[in-house]
Order: sequence, then C-alpha cells, then structure tokens
Amino acid sequence: MLRDPVVWSSPLRTRFRGIDVRDGLLVRGDAGWGELSPFWDYDDAESATWLRATREAAELGFPDPVRDEVPVNVTVPAVAPARAREIVLASGGCRTAKVKVAQRSSSGELEPLVAEAARLEAVREALDAGGPGGRIRVDANGGWTLEEALDRLPVLDRAAGGLEYAEQPCAAVEDLAFLRRKQDVLVAADESIRRAGDPMRVVREEAADIVVLKVQPLGGVRACLDLAEQVGLPVVVSSALESSVGLAAGVALAAALPSLPYACGLATSQLLVHDVVAEPLLPVAGALPVRRPVPDPAALASAAPPDATRDAWLARYDRLAAILDGTK
Ligand SMILES: [Mg+2]
Repeated sequence: MLRDPVVWSSPLRTRFRGIDVRDGLLVRGDAGWGELSPFWDYDDAESATWLRATREAAELGFPDPVRDEVPVNVTVPAVAPARAREIVLASGGCRTAKVKVAQRSSSGELEPLVAEAARLEAVREALDAGGPGGRIRVDANGGWTLEEALDRLPVLDRAAGGLEYAEQPCAAVEDLAFLRRKQDVLVAADESIRRAGDPMRVVREEAADIVVLKVQPLGGVRACLDLAEQVGLPVVVSSALESSVGLAAGVALAAALPSLPYACGLATSQLLVHDVVAEPLLPVAGALPVRRPVPDPAALASAAPPDATRDAWLARYDRLAAILDGTK
C-alpha cells in the first residue's frame, strides 16, 4: 500500500526541454520512497508506465548493485560558449560532457552550425583544463533532418576534438540506421527506445551503437535490466530531470547493469533550484555514489508547490493508478 503522497515543485536553473519549472509527486511504500514525474505533455496512457517505476521503488526496492559509484556526464544546454565553459568547470569533476544541439528558435530556425561548433570548442577547452581524456557527446533530441545530420556531424566531430557519440541525431529509426552506415560518429538511440511502441526495432534495423535507458518512462529498474539484456548494446542510463528520489532509481539501474562503459546522464539534480532531500545526488570527482536519499522536511518546504500544482498531481496520480489497476 502506498501512502503519504507529497508534491514538489522547483524552478530550473536553465530552461530545458521547453520548461522552466519541474514538478512531481513522491509516495512511500514498505521499500522506501518512489517518484512519479511524467512531463505534463505526456498523456495518461503513456504516463501510467511511469507509475510502474514509482511502485517498484516504493514497494519492491532495487536489485543489488554490482558497483558503488556511477560515473556521470555534465549536461550543457544550448547556451553561449562562455556559459558552456562555466557549466563544465562547475560540474563536480565530470570528465564527460553532453552538449545539446539541433535547437530551433520559436520560428523553427535551426541554430547555426558555427554556434554549435563554438559551444563544442568551449566545452573541449574546459574539459582539457581538468586534464586529457575528457569525452564529449552531443544530443540532438531527434531534431535534425538526415541531411542536416550528415552535414553537421563531421564538423561537430572536429570541433569537439572527437565525439564520443551522437544521441538521437534524427527522429526516424531508418535515418539513424542510414547515418550509422554513412559517417563515423557512433549513434545512440534515446527517444527511439523510450517513446517507441517497439524498442527492439532499433536493434533489428542496426540503427544504434548505444542505447539510452530511462527508468520512469520504461517502467522501472527491472524492466530496464530486462530490456538491456534483450538489446545487447552498451547502455547509458539517463534521468528524466527527477528530484534525487527519482534519480536514485536511475543510479540503482546503472549500479546493477553488468557492464557500464559510458558515463550516465544522472547528474541533473544541479538543474533544480530546490531538491527534496538534504543531500542531493550530486557528482563528486565525476561520479555519483550509489545511495538512496530520502525526502527531507525542510527541503520539501522549500520545494512546496502552488496549490493548483498539488491538486493537479494528486488527481493525475489517481487517474494513472486507475489505469494500472485496470479500473479505467
Ligand atoms: Mg536524449
């Protein structure tokens, strides 16, 4: 039985994914706290899967870890070079940076290639300040056409001093497969896995070298471990911009995977002005410790939502529970 639902809300330090405020619901069960935080543009049918992950965390807990820390990347939004440099230097020693590309203005115009390249050069310079061996990946969130990806990836690869991989450069699986054959940068699939009816299509069409898995959208840590085994490709665990309670599920997945060759996208607590725990999951020397923080009353008070947000989450929680329990 889940109890004590509590809603949190926090401004983001940098606008991300088109939002300035992140919010969600926490609920407690016999195994601990779970988080429910599908984005508001996800409908109830899709969001119900996220509640599976919430229930797993609260009712079952997590599988045993095979490592005690998880290397993480710093995420650099589509910002100017000087800001990109600052973000990397303030990242808690992250040796891998994920840089957002393929941003479009409100009128639909793609950010110029020179601006993307300048951001990558700044990130390379900031990583090199911490010593050699830093890695850079780009994430286009499916925002390039095939032609744009073919044009831009070689230029960005040079600007970065070598890209580790390009995450979801195009939206369509067949475009990812084509890109893999036509150019040298490795391709990672993100949206093609977590928002697809058939995540195995990426594997059948040889459309990715790496897959990005996120615990809530895929329905829990165990569901992700099963999928990772079926996919048989290297996995990068990423967050859905959760509080540290939700991030702990991502850390648990990364800690339980048999192999973890790439840094994970779990250092996102730093994007929140208010987290819900006393000691948020923040990187130390580029890694997160494998632990499971619990909500803290003072932190929750700082992250208290407007009444309308609280009511909206409680109603959404009831609707999603009704879907999972088959009463709707
Ligand atoms: Mg992504």
